[in-house]
Amino acid sequence: MRYLRFSIPVKSDNTFKMEMQGIKYEAAHQDSHPHLTDLTIMIVDDEVSTMEIVKAYLETAGYRKFFQVEQSRQAIMMMEETNPDILLLDLMMPEVSGFDILKAVRTHTKFKHMPVIIMTVSTDPNDKLKALDMGATDFLAKPLDPSELCLRVRNTLEAKAYHDQLAFYDRLTSLPNRHMFLDRMDWILKKAERYNEKLALLNIALDNFDRINATIGAGAADEVLRQIAMRIEGVIREVDVLGHPVNNENSLRSLFRIEGSTFSLLLERVRNEQNAAIVADRIIGAIREPFHVDGQNVYVRTSIGISVYPTESEDRDTLVKLASRAADYIKNRSGDSFYFSSRSVNKIYSKRKSIESMLKKALERDEFVLYYQPKVEVSSGVVKGVETLLRWKSDGHGYIPPEDFIPVAEETGLIIPLGEYILSKAFNQLSEWQKTGRDLICMSVNLSAKQFQNPDFSFIVNRIIKNSNVDARFLTLEITESLLMKDIEHAIDTLYRFSEMGLNLSIDDFGTGYSSFSYLSDLPVNELKIDKSFISNIPDNLKSCNIVSTILFLARNLGLKTVAEGIEKEAQLDYLKKEQCDQYQGYLFSKPLSSSEVCEILPKKTC
Ligand code: C2E
Ligand code: CA
Ligand code: CA
Repeated sequence: MRYLRFSIPVKSDNTFKMEMQGIKYEAAHQDSHPHLTDLTIMIVDDEVSTMEIVKAYLETAGYRKFFQVEQSRQAIMMMEETNPDILLLDLMMPEVSGFDILKAVRTHTKFKHMPVIIMTVSTDPNDKLKALDMGATDFLAKPLDPSELCLRVRNTLEAKAYHDQLAFYDRLTSLPNRHMFLDRMDWILKKAERYNEKLALLNIALDNFDRINATIGAGAADEVLRQIAMRIEGVIREVDVLGHPVNNENSLRSLFRIEGSTFSLLLERVRNEQNAAIVADRIIGAIREPFHVDGQNVYVRTSIGISVYPTESEDRDTLVKLASRAADYIKNRSGDSFYFSSRSVNKIYSKRKSIESMLKKALERDEFVLYYQPKVEVSSGVVKGVETLLRWKSDGHGYIPPEDFIPVAEETGLIIPLGEYILSKAFNQLSEWQKTGRDLICMSVNLSAKQFQNPDFSFIVNRIIKNSNVDARFLTLEITESLLMKDIEHAIDTLYRFSEMGLNLSIDDFGTGYSSFSYLSDLPVNELKIDKSFISNIPDNLKSCNIVSTILFLARNLGLKTVAEGIEKEAQLDYLKKEQCDQYQGYLFSKPLSSSEVCEILPKKTC
């Protein structure tokens, strides 16, 4: 039963609302009518003992969720907070009477259809008539008879469930309808605001459905719509099962049929709005497959418009309008595609998309080159090593900075072959320099998160070291502090494996990732690289100076080598000299250089 299926999110909303109010809801264990008994009952009575009796009677019938309101003045406010399914209302109360509340309920936009059962000691038939006249659903005389109370409540809730089924669900697809969508969205937006979450709204509009309807007939078209709803639900399930990083683990998605050939999908708790594109893309693909109806193949195309909260708007109706406009826009342009209503998100997304498709070919076309930035000893000015920095000169698009393509390479998994390429290129280069008589210098290579998390990574590194025939003692792997702190348990294991292989380990961008020095003393780390952001402000900014000298002081005490990155001015270098930093890198000495350029400045033994 559709109504029952949807009672679960309703329940969670109530829990949320109760949290907001600091109210606990009470649960009995009996569950004779598991679905109706999930509904929320509000009791308004100035006598607490009556409310306790009503609750106790209903609990024996399995009901579990109650709100008791003693102060009749607060009844409407509490209803708005807790969204009950039924109201049991005393008539005679001081200040605000049951009649007043009934009147307010029947004129309330949200609650005007809510069932209200009047409970009263009054034997005056006029009171009863007046209450029924004002829209009371039913009447119960006090003192209450337990079986009559339970019977009336059950009948009323059953009638409500049937009414809701008709009012809030689409008969054809059994999906919740536009009414439910708007209602749900109000709650979802409140929740998103409270928990600071992002939300994506997908307006899924079928491109050519009027024509299909006319061609295959209404009956067959209905069948196609039913199958479309199932396919979209299938995609949602699949995305969940795959644990795709579209949303956080406990993300929620709700699908609605808004009108004839339009569906809406709400993705709650999206981590990154662009990820809604993954879901949209799959839905379009799923609908693109032909439908088999009445012995014929029917081809449907879809346009999806996406709006995001709170990036574009915090208002329900605006978000709905934006998503629908974006769907119209893409439908008119080409159809069979999706579009973000936000121009900036579209821009970022299409840039990413084109980088992704170019990246795939770049490795085959050998478009990557390694550059090397010298690491210089502060005290002597002698080059002691180089850091490998990846450069991509794409065919047709020119230079693309690593900040733009490394995250995409990570997401697509391309970082694994790319990372192997970098390591072997770098290690082979070092071996070549050594063969041509350069002094023994160190080579640093940057690692990304995906590489580091790959369980086979240490074997890969080991193989590359063997193949290139270099001494591991001259190799340093740079791992950013934030990467290290993300999964410290795994990191410790991997770091020890590298350390046993004789490799040096460096913590990059140090100072930005909130790691504690106590961790550092337990890790097999050899070097700290102080982040550029601190260096750029020395020696003028006192706070940055303090941070830098504290890091240098502590690192020295832990026996770690220190490297400052991004040195552009003499004054910065002077400060580092004074504070006894070991090495530095930066434009002051040299920008990253090509292999032949760097070879020129490497200290020579003989050549
Ligand atoms: P990073 O590891 O912190 O690299 C230092 C960045 O600072 C480099 O930028 C370098 O060119 C730049 N830089 C060096 N000296 C100065 C200076 O004096 N002033 C200023 N303003 N900048 C300076 P680049 O090459 O654009 O690399 C950016 C980031 O991309 C790197 O940050 C690193 O996280 C990543 N990256 C670069 N190459 C690789 C790679 O081969 N593998 C991986 N996984 N990441 C890489
Ligand atoms: Ca680095
Ligand atoms: Ca760095």
